[in-house]
Amino acid sequence: MIIPKGNRLSQDQLKEVERVAADFDCSILEIHGRNRCVYAILGDETHAVMFKRIAGLSFIRKVDMIESSYKLMDRRSGLADHIVRMGKTEVGVDAPYIIGGPCTIDPANPSLYLETAHALKEAGVNALRGGVWKPRTNPYSYQGDDNALSIILQAREETGLPIDVEVMDSEQLRLALEAQVDVLQVGTRNALNYSLLKQIGRESAETNSAVLLKRGRHVASPDEFIAAAEYIVAEGNPDVMLCPRGTTPALDGYRNHPDESVTPLLKNKTWAPVVVDPSHSVGHSDYVLACSLAAVAYGADGLCIESHVDPQRGIGDDPKQAITPEKMKDLIRACQNAFPNRYKIE
Ligand code: PEP
Ligand code: MN
Repeated sequence: MIIPKGNRLSQDQLKEVERVAADFDCSILEIHGRNRCVYAILGDETHAVMFKRIAGLSFIRKVDMIESSYKLMDRRSGLADHIVRMGKTEVGVDAPYIIGGPCTIDPANPSLYLETAHALKEAGVNALRGGVWKPRTNPYSYQGDDNALSIILQAREETGLPIDVEVMDSEQLRLALEAQVDVLQVGTRNALNYSLLKQIGRESAETNSAVLLKRGRHVASPDEFIAAAEYIVAEGNPDVMLCPRGTTPALDGYRNHPDESVTPLLKNKTWAPVVVDPSHSVGHSDYVLACSLAAVAYGADGLCIESHVDPQRGIGDDPKQAITPEKMKDLIRACQNAFPNRYKIE
């Protein structure tokens, strides 16, 4: 990775670096961090002569050869001080960043989603979630509906909160980007779908859409998880959040095996914010508070929690795992109060 002396290489400087890289069959990818740009060498970057020639250019501060399968996600990379921002809020800096909302938006009942969105805003969430398209284990279960997108867009319009929507294929990605969805969620089933990850990274580069990457449910190791995020960043979008959400096999009684404890490992290896999903992890509304507190104790920067004004009238996972907005309010308070020195409390 190449780090320039200034915040960004000029066109001429970039061309000069590209000329050197091309002599070694490599190309250069510009990645826009919040504070400065860094430049990834695509191709075999181990050519010592190329390395020296680039490092020797007067406008280059340093060239790092991070020997890791995730050299951009690595804590030692040029993106180390990158902060993911949603609007004006820096994820995990002043308080845990809370994404809340139903598992699934019911297109036949838009008012339930809108009512939930307003109640969650009142409860203090930072962003709204809601499944437009759903990855369902059972092919005969409700699969989602394009029409649900307009409902969550209306909720964003009315509440002013950013929105998080899962995308599973190119067409859904196209629709979500067209709608300027703030957070593109990659679910656990696609967490290692490298061509989708690359496409999301490429097409969301230089947009305001961040990516919430869930952990693969078959116990993706921390390195495998971070390397999956690297696919997105390496295509140009550094606004990635890592989301542990429980793994299989499940702990008897829970939906999955709770894995919030992976948080410090991830934070030790990478600069990316960790946003834990307790809802899919434990899979039962009664356990969501405990799992959320544990996640925050482990250092999570945020939480993604399923919530619904009337869980029994919800679809998808809501009847089992959604908490009400009142419970969400208590949960947010409890997470902030548990670590008074870490967060500003109003
Ligand atoms: C969801 O967030 O509703 C979802 C399907 O999540 P996961 O991919 O973690 O199962
Ligand atoms: Mn769900």
